[in-house]
Amino acid sequence: MSKWVYSFSQGEAEGAAAMVELLGGKGAHLAEMARLGLPVPPGFTLTTAVCAYFYANERSLPDDLPAQVEEALARLGHAAGHAFDDRQWPLLVSVRSGGRVSMPGMMDTVLNIGLNDASVEALARKCGDERFAFDCYRRFIEIYSSVALGVPHYEFEDALDFYKEERGASRDADLSACDWRAVVESYKEIVARHAGALFPQDPRAQLWGAVEAVFSSWMNPRAVTYRALNHIPQDWGAAVTVQAMVFGNMDENCATGVAFSRNPSSGARELYGEFLLNAQGEDITSGLRTPQPISALKDAMPRAYEEFRRCAERLEAHYRDMQDMEFTVERGKLWMLQTRSGKRTAPAALKIAVDMADEGLISREEALARIDPASLDQLLHPTIDPSVKRTALAKGLPASPGAAFGGIVFTAQDAQRAAGEGRKVILVRVETSPEDIGGMHAAQGILTARGGMTSHAAVVARGMGKPCVTGAGSLRIDYEDRSFSVAGRRFRQGDTITIDGSAGEVLAGAVEMRRGELTGEFAVLMRWADAHARLKVRANAETPLDARAARKFGAQGIGLARTEHMFFEGARIVAVREMILADTAEGRRAALAKLLPMQRDDFKELFLIMAGLPVTIRLLDPPLHEFLPQGEAELARVALAMGADPEKLRKRAEELSEFNPMLGFRGVRLAVAFPEIVDMQARAIFEAAIAAAKSSAPPHLEIMAPLVFTRAELDIVKARIEETARAIAAETGVASNYSIGAMIELPRAALCAGDIAQTAEFLSFGTNDLTQTALGISRDDAGAFLNSYVAKGVLPADPFVTIDQEGVGELVALGCARARKARSDVQLGVCGEHGGDPASIAFFEKIGVDYISCSPFRVPIARLAAAQAALARRSEAVE
Ligand code: PEP
Ligand code: MG
Repeated sequence: MSKWVYSFSQGEAEGAAAMVELLGGKGAHLAEMARLGLPVPPGFTLTTAVCAYFYANERSLPDDLPAQVEEALARLGHAAGHAFDDRQWPLLVSVRSGGRVSMPGMMDTVLNIGLNDASVEALARKCGDERFAFDCYRRFIEIYSSVALGVPHYEFEDALDFYKEERGASRDADLSACDWRAVVESYKEIVARHAGALFPQDPRAQLWGAVEAVFSSWMNPRAVTYRALNHIPQDWGAAVTVQAMVFGNMDENCATGVAFSRNPSSGARELYGEFLLNAQGEDITSGLRTPQPISALKDAMPRAYEEFRRCAERLEAHYRDMQDMEFTVERGKLWMLQTRSGKRTAPAALKIAVDMADEGLISREEALARIDPASLDQLLHPTIDPSVKRTALAKGLPASPGAAFGGIVFTAQDAQRAAGEGRKVILVRVETSPEDIGGMHAAQGILTARGGMTSHAAVVARGMGKPCVTGAGSLRIDYEDRSFSVAGRRFRQGDTITIDGSAGEVLAGAVEMRRGELTGEFAVLMRWADAHARLKVRANAETPLDARAARKFGAQGIGLARTEHMFFEGARIVAVREMILADTAEGRRAALAKLLPMQRDDFKELFLIMAGLPVTIRLLDPPLHEFLPQGEAELARVALAMGADPEKLRKRAEELSEFNPMLGFRGVRLAVAFPEIVDMQARAIFEAAIAAAKSSAPPHLEIMAPLVFTRAELDIVKARIEETARAIAAETGVASNYSIGAMIELPRAALCAGDIAQTAEFLSFGTNDLTQTALGISRDDAGAFLNSYVAKGVLPADPFVTIDQEGVGELVALGCARARKARSDVQLGVCGEHGGDPASIAFFEKIGVDYISCSPFRVPIARLAAAQAALARRSEAVE
């Protein structure tokens, strides 16, 4: 025989908290509270297995269920001190649904089951309040008939409004016992008309009707859709909890309330919640009356308050987590109706975890495990005040978190001009290119109509820690008119908008912001994380601003300095263009000589900021055409600056144009073709290192070549770097320590990592390009179809965000293993965007990568994710 029903009453319970799957959250935690001896009205729970049976057997119930319910009803009557069908003092019950996880769309609670034409009179006599009894009865008819008998709810509302109008009453409170009697009669007529039968008078029929209504609501369209969207299995089923009624609305010595054991917004250790005198649970949420803060209960009902405070303390200590509780006070006596883990904001989660570890309630390891690394984002970037009501103008991808507002500008130049004048702007582009970097720096945030999560705008904005929304496809940008239209509105240059890069939303006007810092509990948690993490965390940074942010957020070095980002600023771009457009090595050297001092100064500042930590510098990577002048006017300006023939320049630009630049003349290929670029960059690095070492710890130098696919490429680069190092040592008498490595961004490079590691002392997996080249998906154009791939389940997640473990991940794992075999002390890192993604970090931990490198603002996320990954591995090893 199956056990379908589990009883509980204060001091004893057949169920327990661990039985959430069978009893639903509500039933399991009521049973647990009863076990703890807390004041819980007695009751019983029909398991989720009954619901499963119901659907497996054409909506019928198990044969042996009624007998078990009868037995549970008898126990309930015994515990409550009066029976379900007692004529003098009828036992009334509530019926509530309870899933394993709380879920909208399920049936509303039905209160006061057991009331009928006879028992309502008995209730009126017993509590000495006829008005109260008939108010309960009409509420019961209203709810029960709409959920169990399918009578439209508005029929009751209309009838009540009509009655009140007739009587000249404006509020429910104006109605007398006599009025409620009349309303009850009109309600019963509505039921008879709609349901074709009289309102059920038999308490048992009422009970079974409510139970079946709960099971039926499991499959209502709203609930089905919610489960589908949230990946909740459709066969989990709901449990039903039947519980003796307690009344918070009998008189002024009654109350009902909800409260958290700690403040869910700030995390402060204080009871936080509200209550209403003389009210039922639903009155708290209906908004018709304004509840009072829970602290006021201390004065209103000191004994009940004190008991509730003790219950909250007990429950928190028992569950070792912040609790969200419901209670009722019936004529001075406290009853606990529900407890569950409370939802909380990111700052509250952090404070609560650290405080609980300090209080000895949980271990530091548990505190680390309780924080969702992704939620730390909310703490570091300015975010939209959660209390602000918002309406999005457009939705795009949440490409770089945080929020910002400013006047709209459409070009990088306008952004820089505005910043120079002290104005805040949002740079709006169809998409961005390296040319826009200056403007992106100057802007508060970036909004693009095209592009995905690793498009140029997204990667650069994350690197800068600037909010960014990409792929807002509904934006129609008109550069000529300096305006865009969206949602039927036109926005012109200078109009203010807000972008929320955490939600991927665009809003009109300026919205209230909040900002966080890595201080207090946040800093404490980060220290605990570092103590457990095996993976080191570095940052992708090349500007002093980024490098400082990286250190502030606890980066253990720079894992990727994209040197080309330094090429776009001010006079540099002119020299870079001269270098590219020169058609002889001499011409290129002359232009590079202009760049040398600037690049050296950049590196020196970077080394000083990083003060002895490792700094990995990548040689020039992008296709050269990205640096070329766009349009005739620009070309003419560069020609003038170079003293060159514009026609010749145009021809050279045409020569350099490519159909597929990402697979073209870029990466280490530039170094092989134009070794003088390597010479200049290596010289700048070594000279800067020598200069920095005069006032700070000598930098730990790592130089790497991008987009390598064979060892021979790296051999050429290595030889040039060594030659420069020797020359500088001879000139200065100072030899620099450095290592040379390769970026692994092509499938062939991953497969040949063993051979490449013969030359490379370290390998850094550029998983952005590796994903692009392994999947054959352009990272800049993927937005158009990747979302639908994820929605249709073709891919489990955006592979540019979370590493594709079976494909790209396998290439990384294979590359690591082959490189280690060839060179046991080879250093292995990941510097693609995946280095800041918690799910990918867990994978990198497993395959034994040494460090990950990500945008400065993601460093804390990566530190926590690395600690969690290490802890998870350790606990797996123990099991
Ligand atoms: C990469 O490809 O993963 C990488 C870090 O380089 P970038 O994003 O600059 O191409
Ligand atoms: Mg790359």
